[in-house]
Amino acid sequence: MSGLVLVVNAGSSSLKYDLIDVDAGASRASGVVERIGEPSSRAKHSVDGVDHRIEGTCADHGAAFELLIDAFREHGPDLAGLDLTAVGHRVVHGGADFSAPTRIDDQVEATIERLVPLAPLHNPANLEGIRVARAHFPDVPQVAVFDTAFHQTLPPHAYTYAVNRTWRDEHRVRRYGFHGTSHAYVSRRAAELLGLPVPEANVIVLHLGNGASATAVAGGRSVDTSMGLSPLEGLVMGTRPGDLDPSLPAHLSRAGVSLEDYDRALNKESGLKGLIGTNDFRELEERVTSGDVEAGLAFDVVAHRLRKYIGAYAAVLGRVDAVAFTAGIGEHSPMLRAAALDGLADLFGIEVDPAANEAAMSGEHRISTAASRVAVLVIPTAEELEIAREAAAVAAGA
Ligand code: AMP
Repeated sequence: MSGLVLVVNAGSSSLKYDLIDVDAGASRASGVVERIGEPSSRAKHSVDGVDHRIEGTCADHGAAFELLIDAFREHGPDLAGLDLTAVGHRVVHGGADFSAPTRIDDQVEATIERLVPLAPLHNPANLEGIRVARAHFPDVPQVAVFDTAFHQTLPPHAYTYAVNRTWRDEHRVRRYGFHGTSHAYVSRRAAELLGLPVPEANVIVLHLGNGASATAVAGGRSVDTSMGLSPLEGLVMGTRPGDLDPSLPAHLSRAGVSLEDYDRALNKESGLKGLIGTNDFRELEERVTSGDVEAGLAFDVVAHRLRKYIGAYAAVLGRVDAVAFTAGIGEHSPMLRAAALDGLADLFGIEVDPAANEAAMSGEHRISTAASRVAVLVIPTAEELEIAREAAAVAAGA
Protein backbone atom coordinates (compact mmCIF):
# COMPACT_ATOMS: atom_id res chain seq x y z
CA MET A 1 0.00 0.00 0.00
CA SER A 2 1.93 3.02 -1.13
CA GLY A 3 2.02 5.90 -3.54
CA LEU A 4 -0.11 8.84 -4.50
CA VAL A 5 -3.87 8.54 -4.78
CA LEU A 6 -6.25 11.15 -6.15
CA VAL A 7 -9.47 10.89 -4.12
CA VAL A 8 -12.55 12.13 -5.97
CA ASN A 9 -15.90 12.86 -4.32
CA ALA A 10 -18.36 13.97 -6.98
CA GLY A 11 -21.67 15.47 -5.85
CA SER A 12 -24.54 16.73 -7.98
CA SER A 13 -23.13 20.26 -8.27
CA SER A 14 -19.68 19.89 -6.73
CA LEU A 15 -16.49 17.94 -7.15
CA LYS A 16 -14.19 17.56 -4.16
CA TYR A 17 -10.71 16.16 -4.53
CA ASP A 18 -7.71 15.34 -2.41
CA LEU A 19 -4.28 14.17 -3.52
CA ILE A 20 -3.10 11.83 -0.78
CA ASP A 21 0.41 10.57 -0.15
CA VAL A 22 -0.49 7.18 1.30
CA ASP A 23 3.00 6.50 2.74
CA ALA A 24 3.06 9.80 4.63
CA GLY A 25 -0.65 9.54 5.48
CA ALA A 26 -1.00 13.17 4.41
CA SER A 27 -2.68 15.38 1.82
CA ARG A 28 -0.43 16.97 -0.83
CA ALA A 29 -3.17 19.25 -2.22
CA SER A 30 -6.93 19.37 -2.09
CA GLY A 31 -9.83 21.38 -3.37
CA VAL A 32 -13.39 21.69 -4.48
CA VAL A 33 -15.18 22.87 -7.61
CA GLU A 34 -18.64 24.19 -6.75
CA ARG A 35 -21.74 25.29 -8.66
CA ILE A 36 -21.19 22.88 -11.54
CA GLY A 37 -23.89 23.45 -14.16
CA GLU A 38 -24.58 27.01 -12.98
CA PRO A 39 -23.61 30.14 -14.94
CA SER A 40 -20.59 30.84 -12.75
CA SER A 41 -18.67 28.08 -11.03
CA ARG A 42 -15.99 28.62 -8.45
CA ALA A 43 -13.15 26.52 -7.17
CA LYS A 44 -10.64 26.45 -4.36
CA HIS A 45 -7.32 24.65 -4.63
CA SER A 46 -5.31 24.37 -1.42
CA VAL A 47 -1.63 23.50 -1.45
CA ASP A 48 1.11 24.10 1.13
CA GLY A 49 -1.33 25.93 3.39
CA VAL A 50 -2.32 28.46 0.68
CA ASP A 51 -5.86 28.64 -0.77
CA HIS A 52 -6.09 29.57 -4.46
CA ARG A 53 -9.52 30.79 -5.62
CA ILE A 54 -10.47 30.11 -9.22
CA GLU A 55 -13.48 31.46 -11.11
CA GLY A 56 -14.82 29.79 -14.23
CA THR A 57 -17.77 28.19 -15.90
CA CYS A 58 -18.20 24.44 -15.63
CA ALA A 59 -21.20 23.26 -17.59
CA ASP A 60 -20.71 19.68 -16.40
CA HIS A 61 -18.44 17.37 -14.39
CA GLY A 62 -16.14 16.96 -17.41
CA ALA A 63 -15.42 20.69 -17.40
CA ALA A 64 -15.00 20.62 -13.61
CA PHE A 65 -12.42 17.85 -13.94
CA GLU A 66 -10.51 19.90 -16.54
CA LEU A 67 -10.55 22.83 -14.11
CA LEU A 68 -9.12 20.54 -11.42
CA ILE A 69 -6.33 19.39 -13.77
CA ASP A 70 -5.57 23.05 -14.63
CA ALA A 71 -5.51 23.98 -10.92
CA PHE A 72 -2.96 21.26 -10.22
CA ARG A 73 -0.90 22.37 -13.25
CA GLU A 74 -0.94 26.03 -12.26
CA HIS A 75 -0.60 25.81 -8.48
CA GLY A 76 0.99 22.38 -8.11
CA PRO A 77 1.76 19.63 -7.96
CA ASP A 78 1.27 19.02 -11.70
CA LEU A 79 -0.59 15.71 -11.99
CA ALA A 80 0.94 15.13 -15.44
CA GLY A 81 4.34 14.80 -13.80
CA LEU A 82 3.20 12.38 -11.10
CA ASP A 83 2.89 8.64 -11.19
CA LEU A 84 -0.58 8.17 -9.68
CA THR A 85 -1.11 4.82 -7.96
CA ALA A 86 -4.88 5.04 -8.25
CA VAL A 87 -7.89 7.30 -8.39
CA GLY A 88 -10.21 6.52 -5.46
CA HIS A 89 -13.88 7.39 -5.92
CA ARG A 90 -16.30 7.85 -3.07
CA VAL A 91 -19.51 6.09 -4.15
CA VAL A 92 -22.50 6.48 -1.86
CA HIS A 93 -24.54 3.36 -2.62
CA GLY A 94 -23.12 -0.06 -3.34
CA GLY A 95 -26.37 -1.85 -2.50
CA ALA A 96 -25.89 -5.52 -1.60
CA ASP A 97 -23.55 -5.85 -4.60
CA PHE A 98 -20.39 -4.40 -3.07
CA SER A 99 -18.98 -5.32 0.32
CA ALA A 100 -15.45 -4.05 -0.36
CA PRO A 101 -13.60 -1.42 -2.38
CA THR A 102 -13.65 -2.52 -6.00
CA ARG A 103 -11.53 -1.83 -9.07
CA ILE A 104 -13.73 -0.13 -11.64
CA ASP A 105 -14.30 -1.62 -15.08
CA ASP A 106 -17.26 -1.29 -17.46
CA GLN A 107 -19.20 -3.96 -15.58
CA VAL A 108 -18.68 -2.29 -12.17
CA GLU A 109 -19.76 1.01 -13.69
CA ALA A 110 -22.92 -0.68 -15.03
CA THR A 111 -23.69 -2.15 -11.59
CA ILE A 112 -23.32 1.28 -9.92
CA GLU A 113 -25.71 2.59 -12.58
CA ARG A 114 -28.20 -0.20 -11.77
CA LEU A 115 -28.11 0.99 -8.15
CA VAL A 116 -29.21 4.55 -9.07
CA PRO A 117 -32.84 3.91 -7.97
CA LEU A 118 -31.51 3.30 -4.44
CA ALA A 119 -29.54 6.57 -4.39
CA PRO A 120 -31.06 8.87 -7.02
CA LEU A 121 -29.42 11.97 -5.52
CA HIS A 122 -25.92 10.56 -5.18
CA ASN A 123 -24.97 7.68 -7.47
CA PRO A 124 -25.53 9.57 -10.77
CA ALA A 125 -23.07 12.26 -9.64
CA ASN A 126 -20.59 9.66 -8.39
CA LEU A 127 -20.82 7.98 -11.81
CA GLU A 128 -20.10 11.29 -13.54
CA GLY A 129 -16.92 11.59 -11.49
CA ILE A 130 -15.91 8.04 -12.40
CA ARG A 131 -16.52 8.59 -16.12
CA VAL A 132 -14.55 11.81 -16.41
CA ALA A 133 -11.64 10.45 -14.34
CA ARG A 134 -11.51 7.21 -16.36
CA ALA A 135 -11.49 9.22 -19.59
CA HIS A 136 -8.67 11.47 -18.35
CA PHE A 137 -6.57 8.75 -16.70
CA PRO A 138 -7.31 5.62 -18.76
CA ASP A 139 -4.15 3.86 -17.55
CA VAL A 140 -4.49 4.61 -13.83
CA PRO A 141 -6.44 2.05 -11.74
CA GLN A 142 -9.78 3.52 -10.68
CA VAL A 143 -11.27 2.19 -7.45
CA ALA A 144 -14.78 2.65 -6.06
CA VAL A 145 -14.99 2.92 -2.28
CA PHE A 146 -18.59 2.53 -1.11
CA ASP A 147 -20.23 4.30 1.84
CA THR A 148 -22.38 1.22 2.34
CA ALA A 149 -19.70 -1.50 2.13
CA PHE A 150 -18.66 -1.57 5.82
CA HIS A 151 -22.29 -2.27 6.79
CA GLN A 152 -22.63 -5.35 4.60
CA THR A 153 -21.77 -7.35 7.74
CA LEU A 154 -25.11 -6.37 9.32
CA PRO A 155 -27.00 -9.52 10.36
CA PRO A 156 -30.36 -10.13 8.61
CA HIS A 157 -32.32 -9.25 11.77
CA ALA A 158 -30.71 -5.79 11.75
CA TYR A 159 -31.04 -5.05 8.03
CA THR A 160 -34.51 -6.49 7.37
CA TYR A 161 -37.45 -4.09 7.41
CA ALA A 162 -40.78 -5.68 8.35
CA VAL A 163 -42.44 -5.08 4.99
CA ASN A 164 -43.79 -7.42 2.32
CA ARG A 165 -41.65 -9.76 0.23
CA THR A 166 -42.22 -7.85 -3.04
CA TRP A 167 -40.83 -4.68 -1.58
CA ARG A 168 -37.90 -6.54 -0.04
CA ASP A 169 -37.06 -8.64 -3.12
CA GLU A 170 -38.06 -6.57 -6.12
CA HIS A 171 -37.36 -3.10 -4.75
CA ARG A 172 -34.31 -4.12 -2.67
CA VAL A 173 -35.85 -2.47 0.41
CA ARG A 174 -33.57 -3.08 3.41
CA ARG A 175 -31.16 -1.23 5.68
CA TYR A 176 -27.84 -0.52 3.96
CA GLY A 177 -26.22 2.13 6.17
CA PHE A 178 -23.80 4.90 5.12
CA HIS A 179 -20.66 6.77 6.31
CA GLY A 180 -19.05 3.31 6.26
CA THR A 181 -15.53 4.58 5.56
CA SER A 182 -15.71 6.85 8.59
CA HIS A 183 -17.22 4.23 10.91
CA ALA A 184 -14.59 1.68 9.83
CA TYR A 185 -11.70 4.10 10.38
CA VAL A 186 -12.92 5.52 13.70
CA SER A 187 -13.80 2.13 15.22
CA ARG A 188 -10.36 0.79 14.25
CA ARG A 189 -8.63 3.87 15.69
CA ALA A 190 -10.66 3.50 18.91
CA ALA A 191 -9.41 -0.08 19.31
CA GLU A 192 -5.82 1.07 18.66
CA LEU A 193 -6.08 3.88 21.20
CA LEU A 194 -7.38 1.44 23.82
CA GLY A 195 -4.65 -1.06 23.00
CA LEU A 196 -7.24 -3.70 22.09
CA PRO A 197 -7.07 -6.05 19.09
CA VAL A 198 -9.74 -4.91 16.61
CA PRO A 199 -11.57 -8.30 16.75
CA GLU A 200 -12.04 -7.82 20.50
CA ALA A 201 -13.22 -4.20 20.62
CA ASN A 202 -16.89 -3.21 20.82
CA VAL A 203 -17.37 0.42 19.83
CA ILE A 204 -20.33 2.74 19.35
CA VAL A 205 -19.29 5.26 16.68
CA LEU A 206 -21.19 8.55 16.48
CA HIS A 207 -20.49 10.32 13.19
CA LEU A 208 -22.08 13.72 13.75
CA GLY A 209 -21.65 16.10 10.83
CA ASN A 210 -24.16 17.71 8.52
CA GLY A 211 -25.14 14.10 7.85
CA ALA A 212 -25.13 12.01 11.03
CA SER A 213 -25.19 8.33 11.83
CA ALA A 214 -24.49 5.95 14.71
CA THR A 215 -23.03 2.47 14.30
CA ALA A 216 -22.60 -0.47 16.67
CA VAL A 217 -19.28 -2.12 15.82
CA ALA A 218 -18.57 -5.54 17.33
CA GLY A 219 -15.03 -6.79 16.81
CA GLY A 220 -14.47 -4.65 13.73
CA ARG A 221 -17.81 -5.59 12.13
CA SER A 222 -20.79 -3.27 11.77
CA VAL A 223 -23.75 -5.02 13.46
CA ASP A 224 -26.28 -2.18 13.43
CA THR A 225 -26.40 1.33 12.05
CA SER A 226 -28.87 4.18 12.15
CA MET A 227 -29.11 5.10 8.45
CA GLY A 228 -31.24 2.79 6.37
CA LEU A 229 -32.21 2.33 2.73
CA SER A 230 -31.13 5.95 2.31
CA PRO A 231 -29.18 8.43 4.47
CA LEU A 232 -32.47 9.87 5.80
CA GLU A 233 -33.11 7.48 8.68
CA GLY A 234 -31.82 7.68 12.24
CA LEU A 235 -30.31 10.70 13.96
CA VAL A 236 -31.46 14.30 13.55
CA MET A 237 -29.18 15.91 10.93
CA GLY A 238 -28.44 19.30 9.37
CA THR A 239 -31.26 19.17 6.82
CA ARG A 240 -32.67 15.63 7.27
CA PRO A 241 -35.09 14.57 9.99
CA GLY A 242 -33.86 11.07 10.85
CA ASP A 243 -36.53 8.71 12.22
CA LEU A 244 -40.15 9.48 11.33
CA ASP A 245 -43.49 7.74 11.41
CA PRO A 246 -43.80 5.82 8.08
CA SER A 247 -47.39 7.06 7.71
CA LEU A 248 -46.09 10.54 6.94
CA PRO A 249 -46.11 10.31 3.08
CA ALA A 250 -49.75 9.14 3.06
CA HIS A 251 -50.78 11.74 5.63
CA LEU A 252 -49.15 14.58 3.71
CA SER A 253 -50.28 13.40 0.27
CA ARG A 254 -53.89 13.48 1.52
CA ALA A 255 -53.17 17.10 2.44
CA GLY A 256 -51.94 17.79 -1.12
CA VAL A 257 -48.17 17.58 -0.66
CA SER A 258 -46.57 16.10 -3.80
CA LEU A 259 -43.94 13.38 -3.70
CA GLU A 260 -41.36 15.83 -5.10
CA ASP A 261 -42.10 18.36 -2.34
CA TYR A 262 -41.99 15.60 0.26
CA ASP A 263 -38.62 14.33 -1.00
CA ARG A 264 -37.13 17.83 -1.14
CA ALA A 265 -38.43 18.78 2.31
CA LEU A 266 -37.00 15.64 3.92
CA ASN A 267 -33.61 15.95 2.21
CA LYS A 268 -33.07 19.69 2.31
CA GLU A 269 -35.49 21.45 4.65
CA SER A 270 -35.79 19.23 7.72
CA GLY A 271 -33.52 18.41 10.67
CA LEU A 272 -31.94 21.49 12.26
CA LYS A 273 -32.88 23.56 9.20
CA GLY A 274 -36.53 22.63 9.70
CA LEU A 275 -36.42 23.29 13.44
CA ILE A 276 -34.53 26.59 13.61
CA GLY A 277 -33.89 27.70 10.01
CA THR A 278 -30.17 26.90 9.87
CA ASN A 279 -28.15 23.70 9.61
CA ASP A 280 -25.10 25.30 11.24
CA PHE A 281 -24.60 23.64 14.62
CA ARG A 282 -22.35 26.48 15.82
CA GLU A 283 -25.20 28.92 15.32
CA LEU A 284 -27.52 26.56 17.19
CA GLU A 285 -25.11 26.49 20.15
CA GLU A 286 -24.79 30.27 20.20
CA ARG A 287 -28.56 30.64 20.23
CA VAL A 288 -28.93 28.05 22.99
CA THR A 289 -26.33 29.85 25.08
CA SER A 290 -28.12 33.17 24.62
CA GLY A 291 -31.38 31.66 25.89
CA ASP A 292 -33.27 31.17 22.61
CA VAL A 293 -36.14 28.81 23.54
CA GLU A 294 -36.68 27.42 20.02
CA ALA A 295 -32.97 26.62 19.72
CA GLY A 296 -33.04 25.02 23.17
CA LEU A 297 -35.78 22.65 22.02
CA ALA A 298 -33.88 21.82 18.81
CA PHE A 299 -30.74 21.02 20.81
CA ASP A 300 -32.75 18.77 23.15
CA VAL A 301 -34.33 16.94 20.19
CA VAL A 302 -30.87 16.27 18.72
CA ALA A 303 -29.39 15.14 22.06
CA HIS A 304 -32.39 12.99 22.99
CA ARG A 305 -32.27 11.09 19.67
CA LEU A 306 -28.56 10.53 20.15
CA ARG A 307 -29.07 9.13 23.68
CA LYS A 308 -31.72 6.74 22.39
CA TYR A 309 -29.32 5.30 19.83
CA ILE A 310 -26.47 5.04 22.35
CA GLY A 311 -28.76 3.10 24.70
CA ALA A 312 -30.05 0.90 21.89
CA TYR A 313 -26.57 0.08 20.63
CA ALA A 314 -25.28 -0.64 24.14
CA ALA A 315 -28.04 -3.27 24.33
CA VAL A 316 -27.22 -4.59 20.84
CA LEU A 317 -23.52 -4.95 21.70
CA GLY A 318 -23.97 -6.28 25.25
CA ARG A 319 -20.56 -4.93 26.23
CA VAL A 320 -19.18 -1.56 25.16
CA ASP A 321 -15.47 -0.70 25.26
CA ALA A 322 -15.74 2.77 23.76
CA VAL A 323 -18.10 5.45 22.56
CA ALA A 324 -16.33 7.45 19.83
CA PHE A 325 -17.40 10.88 18.56
CA THR A 326 -16.35 12.09 15.12
CA ALA A 327 -17.09 14.57 12.25
CA GLY A 328 -17.75 18.33 12.47
CA ILE A 329 -20.12 18.32 15.44
CA GLY A 330 -18.80 15.18 17.14
CA GLU A 331 -15.26 16.55 17.12
CA HIS A 332 -16.14 20.11 18.13
CA SER A 333 -19.20 20.17 20.35
CA PRO A 334 -18.46 19.43 24.03
CA MET A 335 -22.01 20.66 24.70
CA LEU A 336 -23.67 17.90 22.65
CA ARG A 337 -21.25 15.21 23.84
CA ALA A 338 -22.03 16.10 27.45
CA ALA A 339 -25.79 16.21 26.89
CA ALA A 340 -25.87 12.87 25.04
CA LEU A 341 -23.94 11.03 27.76
CA ASP A 342 -25.15 12.81 30.89
CA GLY A 343 -26.29 10.52 33.70
CA LEU A 344 -25.24 7.23 32.09
CA ALA A 345 -22.64 6.26 34.72
CA ASP A 346 -24.80 3.87 36.75
CA LEU A 347 -26.63 2.17 33.90
CA PHE A 348 -23.89 1.94 31.27
CA GLY A 349 -20.64 2.81 33.08
CA ILE A 350 -20.16 5.88 30.89
CA GLU A 351 -18.74 8.86 32.76
CA VAL A 352 -17.51 11.98 30.97
CA ASP A 353 -14.77 14.12 32.52
CA PRO A 354 -16.15 17.68 32.04
CA ALA A 355 -12.72 19.34 31.85
CA ALA A 356 -11.36 16.80 29.34
CA ASN A 357 -14.55 17.14 27.29
CA GLU A 358 -14.33 20.94 27.16
CA ALA A 359 -10.64 20.79 26.23
CA ALA A 360 -11.08 18.30 23.36
CA MET A 361 -11.55 20.57 20.34
CA SER A 362 -9.05 19.11 17.88
CA GLY A 363 -7.08 15.89 17.57
CA GLU A 364 -7.65 12.57 19.34
CA HIS A 365 -8.72 12.66 22.98
CA ARG A 366 -10.07 10.46 25.75
CA ILE A 367 -12.76 12.47 27.52
CA SER A 368 -14.00 9.91 30.07
CA THR A 369 -12.96 9.81 33.72
CA ALA A 370 -10.40 7.27 34.92
CA ALA A 371 -13.24 5.43 36.68
CA SER A 372 -15.45 5.22 33.60
CA ARG A 373 -15.95 1.56 32.55
CA VAL A 374 -16.48 2.69 28.96
CA ALA A 375 -13.88 4.93 27.28
CA VAL A 376 -15.35 8.02 25.65
CA LEU A 377 -13.16 9.14 22.76
CA VAL A 378 -13.02 12.00 20.28
CA ILE A 379 -11.42 10.82 17.03
CA PRO A 380 -11.21 13.08 13.96
CA THR A 381 -12.45 11.16 10.96
CA ALA A 382 -10.15 10.71 7.96
CA GLU A 383 -12.41 9.62 5.12
CA GLU A 384 -10.16 10.80 2.29
CA LEU A 385 -7.10 9.10 3.77
CA GLU A 386 -9.07 5.90 4.31
CA ILE A 387 -10.39 5.98 0.71
CA ALA A 388 -6.83 6.55 -0.54
CA ARG A 389 -5.46 3.64 1.50
CA GLU A 390 -8.21 1.32 0.32
CA ALA A 391 -7.78 2.40 -3.31
CA ALA A 392 -4.01 1.87 -3.10
CA ALA A 393 -4.51 -1.58 -1.59
CA VAL A 394 -6.92 -2.57 -4.39
CA ALA A 395 -4.57 -1.18 -7.04
CA ALA A 396 -1.72 -3.23 -5.54
CA GLY A 397 -3.93 -6.30 -5.77
CA ALA A 398 -4.04 -6.75 -2.00
P1 AMP B 1 -19.24 18.03 8.68
O1 AMP B 1 -20.40 17.60 7.83
O2 AMP B 1 -18.52 16.86 9.30
O3 AMP B 1 -18.31 18.98 7.98
O4 AMP B 1 -19.86 18.86 9.91
C1 AMP B 1 -20.57 20.06 9.68
C2 AMP B 1 -21.24 20.48 10.97
O5 AMP B 1 -20.26 20.63 12.00
C3 AMP B 1 -21.96 21.82 10.87
O6 AMP B 1 -23.23 21.73 11.51
C4 AMP B 1 -21.06 22.75 11.65
O7 AMP B 1 -21.79 23.84 12.21
C5 AMP B 1 -20.54 21.83 12.73
N1 AMP B 1 -19.34 22.39 13.35
C6 AMP B 1 -18.15 22.66 12.77
N2 AMP B 1 -17.31 23.23 13.66
C7 AMP B 1 -18.00 23.34 14.84
C8 AMP B 1 -17.71 23.87 16.14
N3 AMP B 1 -16.51 24.39 16.41
N4 AMP B 1 -18.67 23.78 17.08
C9 AMP B 1 -19.87 23.24 16.82
N5 AMP B 1 -20.21 22.74 15.62
C10 AMP B 1 -19.30 22.79 14.64
